[in-house]
Amino acid sequence: MTSFELEDMEEKIHCRAVIFDFDGTLADSMPFLQSIGVEVMMKHFDVSKDDAIKRYVTTTGLPYEHQIKLNFPGDTRNAAAIEEFEQLKIKRIYEQSLVPDAEQTVRELGRRGFDLFVSSSTFQPTVEEYFRRKGILDLFKAIVGYRPGFEKGADHFKHISATYDIPFESMVFVGDSLKDFERSKGFCDFIGVTDLFDSEQFYEAGHRGLLISHLIELLGLIDYFETSS
Ligand SMILES: [Mg+2]
Repeated sequence: MTSFELEDMEEKIHCRAVIFDFDGTLADSMPFLQSIGVEVMMKHFDVSKDDAIKRYVTTTGLPYEHQIKLNFPGDTRNAAAIEEFEQLKIKRIYEQSLVPDAEQTVRELGRRGFDLFVSSSTFQPTVEEYFRRKGILDLFKAIVGYRPGFEKGADHFKHISATYDIPFESMVFVGDSLKDFERSKGFCDFIGVTDLFDSEQFYEAGHRGLLISHLIELLGLIDYFETSS
């Protein structure tokens, strides 16, 4: 239903719930997060800037804790690096703007009856506080954030499905990282937002579905559809 083929460009995704990634998808926070993520890697692990950028980008979409542990397995410096990143992040995350068309898109999808969720690798209270300060927390049915053992992807999708009685086939996940696509596989439709990664990189990662460059494009790509369960 979701294959994006030239001869069939008008085909839409029919769903009941839209789940948004947070960083880089609704919040324009990636330049900030990448800059502190890279800075911390350079400081704690004595790697070059180019090396740190590569390590950051290839693991982005995961909690920073996992980005560090994947890049520096078993390193005794990990805990201090993770702690410093989280301190730097909480100081300035609320200053980061919403993506320009995020509020308009989310408001209109809500008006059309979609159940809207956020699934993030950022801690839940941080994401909630961010949207509270932007004045749009009430547009979401739930904010589902990270805690150890409860991650964006399978854990969050299962939680949303069970708590709100929404089958996986009635969900679409919208995200900006290759990890977001990978984690949607086997669960629900995925729409990629290009910026951090371009269409070629999503394709190489195996994504054959929709890609957008602005959130507002969602309004023409998904239709509300209630499955009978
Ligand atoms: Mg993201």
